[in-house]
Amino acid sequence: MGACAFDLSHYRELLEAAKAGGYSWARFDRIPQPGDLYVRHDVDLSLEAAVEMARLEHELGARATYFLMTESSFYNLDSRVGHYAQRQLREWGHAVGLHAVHPRAELDDRFDPVIAWHNPDAEYMSEPIVGAVNVMEPPYFTPGHYRSDSNAHWREGCPHEQLATGEFEWLQLLVHPEIWVYDGETMRETMESLLAAKRAEWLEHLANDRIDLT
Ligand SMILES: [Zn+2]
Ligand SMILES: [Zn+2]
Repeated sequence: MGACAFDLSHYRELLEAAKAGGYSWARFDRIPQPGDLYVRHDVDLSLEAAVEMARLEHELGARATYFLMTESSFYNLDSRVGHYAQRQLREWGHAVGLHAVHPRAELDDRFDPVIAWHNPDAEYMSEPIVGAVNVMEPPYFTPGHYRSDSNAHWREGCPHEQLATGEFEWLQLLVHPEIWVYDGETMRETMESLLAAKRAEWLEHLANDRIDLT
């Protein structure tokens, strides 16, 4: 296995490692059992990236939980791509939770009863939520059983090797799709790639809106 790049080919290797390690694809509907892998995706910036990652997981027989925002500045669940993304995530067997902005934990029938706060403060990060699982409450969030790719940096190292050898009793793995789907070695470069993709998407939306760009 090569360097631990944040790209889809290494993401594929991560999933293959989890399979080799004998992990099962858990969702946040029951407390952790030995061998569980909770693959969690906080969708902060791009539904297109989420769909691409979800398709790859589906190809490999992996299942994840996607946390979608209802009050994002970057995407709209009621747009065409929003509806497409929600339909495809379900069709490919993934769970869908709410990526909520504190203090609004407003679930509706688009979501399973599971919430991940967006950019939480320490005071409420691990507090229980009435009527829903908070992914950052114990036992789902337990030191030693959690890895995150936040800002394209594994604080405790890329987990592929420990997954392959089954070293984690169980694990919650937080992966942000846009970091892996868009090219770039630094967060800055990756965001430039995302902006270029957004520009192309917007040009298409403009054309679909019959705006004359000639
Ligand atoms: Zn790795
Ligand atoms: Zn977030």
